[in-house]
Amino acid sequence: MIRIDLIWAMAGFLGIGMVLVFAFWMFYNFTEEKTPGGIVEQCPYCTYIFLNDRLDNAVQCPRCRSLVTLPGRGQGILKPKDSGEAA
Ligand SMILES: [Zn+2]
Repeated sequence: MIRIDLIWAMAGFLGIGMVLVFAFWMFYNFTEEKTPGGIVEQCPYCTYIFLNDRLDNAVQCPRCRSLVTLPGRGQGILKPKDSGEAA
C-alpha cells in the first residue's frame, strides 16, 4: 500500500484539477471558431441590430431596407458625394 501525507494528497488533487482546467482552456481558446465576422450596427430608423461584414460606408438595413450611412468607414462605392468644396 502506498502511504502519502495529507498535504501531498491535497496537492495532487488540486494539481490534477488545475491541469484539467488549463487543458480545457487551451482546447477552447485555440480551436477554430465558426462565428460570423462583421461589425454590429444599429439602424437609426427602426433600431434593428444587424451584423455588417462589408467595408462600405453605407449599408442597407435588412429589416426596413433604408440606407444606413456609417461615417468614417471604408472606400466603398456608396460613398456620399462631396459637398461642393474644390480640392
Ligand atoms: Zn432599419
